[in-house]
Amino acid sequence: MKRNIILMGPPGAGKGTLAKKLMSLGFAHISTGDMFRKAIKAGTALGQLAEQFIKRGDLVPDDVTIGIVKERLSQDDCAQGFLLDGFPRTLVQAEALEELTKEINRPIETVVNLDCNEKELVRRIAGRRICKVCGAPYHIETLKPKIDGICDLCSGLLYQRNDDNEEALKVRLDHYNHQTKPLLDFYQARGLLHHFNSLVSSEALFDEIAQFLKS
Ligand code: ADP
Ligand code: ZN
Repeated sequence: MKRNIILMGPPGAGKGTLAKKLMSLGFAHISTGDMFRKAIKAGTALGQLAEQFIKRGDLVPDDVTIGIVKERLSQDDCAQGFLLDGFPRTLVQAEALEELTKEINRPIETVVNLDCNEKELVRRIAGRRICKVCGAPYHIETLKPKIDGICDLCSGLLYQRNDDNEEALKVRLDHYNHQTKPLLDFYQARGLLHHFNSLVSSEALFDEIAQFLKS
């Protein structure tokens, strides 16, 4: 079983949805986006800082982001294996991660990249809704809740992320193309990169990747 994993792919490719499903295999799910959103909700200093960047679609500064991941990776639950979702997003972050995983002796074993075309990303993000309480993802056309606006799992209210609008998405895709996409070469050069087509159902994608991680 491969244990310490990076999940990569553009915004809307389905990283979060897949990561939540993969938690059933015992991974600690480390989503920098979720961590920032939690901090924003709690009104912490970190949240106030991150919010300025996130609402525009910009990246939170590297030192801040690397700091929260460093703290999270050293926690006990990561010893069974961790799944990084949304980190690293820049070369500076990828280099810091390499140092960090060396220090704690938990090296990255594989990088799973979700391939998706831009038209589909826009469609997915425009219709995305998320449970305020448990974070479960929905889509207004393709992944509808049983009751409109209410989470199937916990009855929490569904909301639309304030960076899931056309303007912020353009900025996010731009950052992805210029800063994050080059990391594919970084991991390809290390022999860690594996591509998966995310234009399949979330169940089929989970099955394929779970199988791959177990092999
Ligand atoms: P998505 O993959 O759908 O864009 P995420 O939840 O991963 O969403 O991230 C949401 C926002 O949080 C990003 O647009 C960015 O502002 C911030 N963020 C998350 N991860 C990072 C990171 N590794 N470096 C910098 N900013 C980040
Ligand atoms: Zn819920």
